[in-house]
Amino acid sequence: SSTRLFNFAAGPATLPEPVLLKAQSELYDYQGSGMSVMEMSHRGKHFLSIIQKAESDLRNLLNIPDSYSVLFLQGGATSQFSSIPLNLCRSSEDSADYIVTGSWSDKSFKEAQRYCSPKVIWSGKADKYVKIPDFDNLEQNPDATYLHICANETIHGVEFKDYPVPKNKGGILVADMSSNFCSKPVDVSKFGIIYAGAQKNVGPSGVTMVIIRKDLIGNAQGITPIMLDYKIHDENKSLYNTPPCYGIYMCGLVFEHLLELGGLAGVEKMNKKKADLLYQAIDESKGFYRCPVEQSVRSLMNVPFTLEKSELEGDFIKEAEKEGMVQLKGHRSVGGMRASIYNAMPYAGVEKLVGFMKDFQARHG
Ligand code: PMP
Repeated sequence: SSTRLFNFAAGPATLPEPVLLKAQSELYDYQGSGMSVMEMSHRGKHFLSIIQKAESDLRNLLNIPDSYSVLFLQGGATSQFSSIPLNLCRSSEDSADYIVTGSWSDKSFKEAQRYCSPKVIWSGKADKYVKIPDFDNLEQNPDATYLHICANETIHGVEFKDYPVPKNKGGILVADMSSNFCSKPVDVSKFGIIYAGAQKNVGPSGVTMVIIRKDLIGNAQGITPIMLDYKIHDENKSLYNTPPCYGIYMCGLVFEHLLELGGLAGVEKMNKKKADLLYQAIDESKGFYRCPVEQSVRSLMNVPFTLEKSELEGDFIKEAEKEGMVQLKGHRSVGGMRASIYNAMPYAGVEKLVGFMKDFQARHG
């Protein structure tokens, strides 16, 4: 509608309009229950059917095999940085391999140092995080408990287009998919654990999804806090304590919406179309705009770019805001601009941004 802005924020991020309108229509009295989802017991029949449907819709979307559990947790993807080594490693001496492609995988590696003996087997830091490694030349440790990647680096805009085959004894690949979750089809069977915070593609902040191969559950280190133990949440179907009920309801509405759109293959096509339009505008600007990321691994979700005349960045952001395009400032650690164009960003939003970029260049180039 006319009051809504094009919101290019990295997360919390824009949500699909039909989902917001449906939530609005059900806010006051959820399906004749006489109360809103925020007010009802998490053990009552209405909420149980909400969480069960959210899980089954997510299973359909990602084609999740029965040998995997789906957990709806709290604590953000950040708490998974601790849960993973705590649940997968038997002691602080166990090793784990980390590929560090940006700030988020770096953070996950640093947290793992508290609970196991992780090793960075590849880092893109010296190149300022613009690459994904060549998988053939990775020196994986066969004794590692798992191999960890961040499938899409939200700040640096680098995305895995394919995945390394884990060479560790359990064949366990763990992926942080926070910022590209449900943006494209994924072969879940290649992973031991996929985890994601909801607040980019699938809902509000406060919900963290974990998709985990069942045989990896139940081996947590003794010091593991109960809230970080996958076994507790699995046995209790994500209802050990009070879950983020309203957030799970919103995620459920998004899953339903993505299924109505025809599933993730179509969603990916749309995401590619949007990203192509924006990257093309950057690449054809004769250097006025620049994206530092290697072409083949550019993210479909987060598009970082800089201005050749960096002194104009403030004006760029201010003028874009005036035209109803907000949150285009790059992360404070890297500067420049960043357009996050998650599933719910309409094509029209990217078209408008590209039009603005061309106009801005014409005026300042
Ligand atoms: N991993 C990635 C890839 C992220 O983008 C973020 C959040 N921006 C996080 C982890 C941390 O997530 P949370 O804030 O939900 O803990």
